[in-house]
Amino acid sequence: MQESESIFDVVIVGGGIVGSVLAASLKPSGLRVAIVETQPLDVVTQRKRAYAMSLLSQKIFQGLGLWSEIESASGKYRNIQLSDEDFSQVVRFRPQDLHTDFLGFSGQHEAMLTALQKTLATSEQVQWFCPARVMGVSYGADAATVSLTTVDSGSLQIQARLVVGADGARSPVREGAGIGTKGWKYWQSCVTFVVEHDAPRNDIAFERFWGTGPMGVLPLPGNRCQIVWTNPHAEAQRLKSLDDASFLAQLQPFVKPLGQVRLVGDRQIFPVQLMQSDRYVKERLALIGDAAHCCHPVGGQGLNLGIRDAVALAQILTEAYTQQKDIGQLPVLRRYERWRKLENLLILSFTDLLNRLFSNRFLPIVLLRRFGLMLMSAIAPLRLFALKLMAGQKGKQPDIAMSVE
Ligand SMILES: Cc1cc2nc3c(=O)[nH]c(=O)nc-3n(C[C@H](O)[C@H](O)[C@H](O)COP(=O)(O)OP(=O)(O)OC[C@H]3O[C@@H](n4cnc5c(N)ncnc54)[C@H](O)[C@@H]3O)c2cc1C
Repeated sequence: MQESESIFDVVIVGGGIVGSVLAASLKPSGLRVAIVETQPLDVVTQRKRAYAMSLLSQKIFQGLGLWSEIESASGKYRNIQLSDEDFSQVVRFRPQDLHTDFLGFSGQHEAMLTALQKTLATSEQVQWFCPARVMGVSYGADAATVSLTTVDSGSLQIQARLVVGADGARSPVREGAGIGTKGWKYWQSCVTFVVEHDAPRNDIAFERFWGTGPMGVLPLPGNRCQIVWTNPHAEAQRLKSLDDASFLAQLQPFVKPLGQVRLVGDRQIFPVQLMQSDRYVKERLALIGDAAHCCHPVGGQGLNLGIRDAVALAQILTEAYTQQKDIGQLPVLRRYERWRKLENLLILSFTDLLNRLFSNRFLPIVLLRRFGLMLMSAIAPLRLFALKLMAGQKGKQPDIAMSVE
């Protein structure tokens, strides 16, 4: 076992998309960055998943110089449709509402993370520790010390002015720092899978609400869609365990607009939760992405929020470093918390309300939500507000997004 010590400005724990966006956004700052990731890089990268990505996330990738690479592997949707079971009123969002060419894109995990890793590989300021597991962090007056074990070098200690927890919903970094959370687990799980379909519906994303939970359909290149099908836990488990033919027979009536569908790859299942950390920061520590908050996948917001956290934190750290401030001190980090915590809470509450209103068969609620859909269809400013909220156009915009057309 080898003991050694390296000194960085920032140690990011978690090399998923959110941690990697932070590292890429810090590239121009001159700060020395370490990324610690517990899984081998190819395992982290090759998750077969796609996410609904907002126009703001697209601008952020553009600002990082990665958009053209990500774009070629993404489905872009020009329309978003919201509907409630078989109720005839469909809310339609169109690009002319925002004066844009499209309303969002289906970002494939592998394409986004590969692009991020490529740009990080060209930076001398960034060092990966991977696969490596964080065993503990001690927070001192001038620096934090991260103890880790790696397969190649055994035990290591690395020091930094700031540790960032980008280590996902169960965040060992958050727990180790004694930061509590508020929230609840939903009664639902999501079954996610990709289908090939006959109908040429390649530019429409739709979310259809059923009494058991929403179904989100995201277009992917080549007449394929990623589907997130939310159901109570037991029903989701049953759907996951069906053989392909029985599963498709159950699915087909729910996805009539896609025509005949065929499964591509495996089905995965995710229990879902709402969670907000009591604090996003403490002296020498900041939390970003799922380590700081989680929301119901309805509306496809979680990763988009995490990316916003990452670029907001990068902007604040860069400014502080330029002004020769200690980037791990609480007054600097509190600026990040003030920027992001309330904005995230707003989206968390919105997705919770949507799920509770729509995953419900109580007649007065059914009537209320159908009235709501009619209002949203009829009143353009209401529709525009909801669209801008989901597109990331509400709240403080990060400089990196403002710098691109
Ligand atoms: C069914 C479903 C559908 C979703 N759809 C969407 C969508 O359409 N749009 C959207 O925006 N969001 C969506 N989300 C949310 C999105 O998946 C998450 O918000 C996002 O993946 C969180 O990214 P992250 O980088 O913060 O965390 P993660 O992706 O969990 O990454 C954390 C990383 O930290 C590493 N790690 C953990 N512990 C350690 C340790 N001790 N040491 C070192 N490394 C460690 C892990 O290996 C991992 O690589 C969805 C979520 C679900 C469940």
